[in-house]
Amino acid sequence: MGHGVKIFNAACKGCVNCIKSCPTEAIRVVDGRVRIIPELCIDCGECLRTCTKKALGMDEDDWDTLRTAGDLQVMSDPTLYAQLGSYRRPGVVRDALSHFGVREVASEVPLAYDVGAYAIARALEEAEPGRKPLISTYCPAIVRLVQVRFPELLPRLVPVESPLEIAGQIWRRDHRDSNLTLVAPCPAKITLVREPVGREKSSFTSVVAVKRVTRDLLASGATAEVPQKPMENIRWLMWALRGGETRHVTQFLDRPVKTMVVSGLRNTLDLLQELELGHLPGVDYVECRVCDLGCIGGIGNAETRFLSEIRLRELPVRWELTEHEFGEVQELYDQGIWKLKVSPRATQSRTLGKNVAESMNRLQKLKKVYDELPHIDCGACGRPTCHALAEDIVRGEGEVTDCIFKLRDRISTLAREIADLSGHVPHTLRNREED
Ligand code: SF4
Ligand code: SF4
Repeated sequence: MGHGVKIFNAACKGCVNCIKSCPTEAIRVVDGRVRIIPELCIDCGECLRTCTKKALGMDEDDWDTLRTAGDLQVMSDPTLYAQLGSYRRPGVVRDALSHFGVREVASEVPLAYDVGAYAIARALEEAEPGRKPLISTYCPAIVRLVQVRFPELLPRLVPVESPLEIAGQIWRRDHRDSNLTLVAPCPAKITLVREPVGREKSSFTSVVAVKRVTRDLLASGATAEVPQKPMENIRWLMWALRGGETRHVTQFLDRPVKTMVVSGLRNTLDLLQELELGHLPGVDYVECRVCDLGCIGGIGNAETRFLSEIRLRELPVRWELTEHEFGEVQELYDQGIWKLKVSPRATQSRTLGKNVAESMNRLQKLKKVYDELPHIDCGACGRPTCHALAEDIVRGEGEVTDCIFKLRDRISTLAREIADLSGHVPHTLRNREED
């Protein structure tokens, strides 16, 4: 799988902090090496935040290579426009990119976000009450989290493509063979490009982090405060902020709806658990992002989320669409460009054996091995839980003595045996000692 997380094993100190932060138990630290189980990783970036030794990073494409290859065309996530300290107007970021020799694909993006918001509003109006609340699919980590941990909630995912992909598709109509780079704030949006859910192939050909581009823009020294060409429609920039998507969607609804907005991994997990238990009756729409405060909290950004939030909240947003804008949205909506082509499916759980007989056999062994472990999930064995260690043992990927408590038991048994043996006299000497 083309994941957005990269491992730098030489930097890993084996502290196992990362395994504790992973919401899907996707990390192992075995033989001094970090390993990520690709089927389980949702690219939420929590392990990157936890690892202070920089043994994990974003697996982006090489920005310098892309730039030196020439004719670089980028499309950016809205977070980029909230990054630069001296630039308080998003149009200045556009100017800076163009001074820097990068062609920004801009005209399709605001329209695509309008189409995405409109499609979600229509989906909300058409959904049967039993299927609500619908869940936003904007954060790719949320889609994968549902696939891995909450498969019962899959029918609630709103079947609307990411507006970034909608914009990419509109652009591709006239640029079939050109390269297009996405500037992304997180590992999840790297996976959106490399391993998309809901379609076969992404419209983007490469992906780099917002942080990387921002640093180059700052180093280039462009500090103008007034953009040459102001941005007309900035509604889409608000999607970078917690609640921005919901605000945009409600613009297209004629009646009030009950929405919930949640950001941050722990809050999201709580919310999805409540939803799974059917504890949220009467709610129509759930906007969740695994990053705190929304995408401005993504690990691939350069600026602190708190400053980015102030910047975005200060922008003068015109929420109402002009008649012309609405006509364009309606036209693209009617073309169905916003639809997810394939419904996201549950991630296949990892089987214990190659066939049913082997899996059953191993399941019995697993129960026995697990019963003998201390059940304190300390993580010192390099697995997130005792159960995960038991699974690894029956798969042949671990030893009981990877558990430090079992290792201690084994050492004390050995020590006792050694002490016993030390009292034994070799039989050849026994009679002599008695004399
Ligand atoms: S990115 Fe998230 S899901 Fe993937 S290994 Fe890291 S913490 Fe786990
Ligand atoms: S909340 Fe936004 S930045 Fe964070 S993982 Fe999801 S899409 Fe990426």
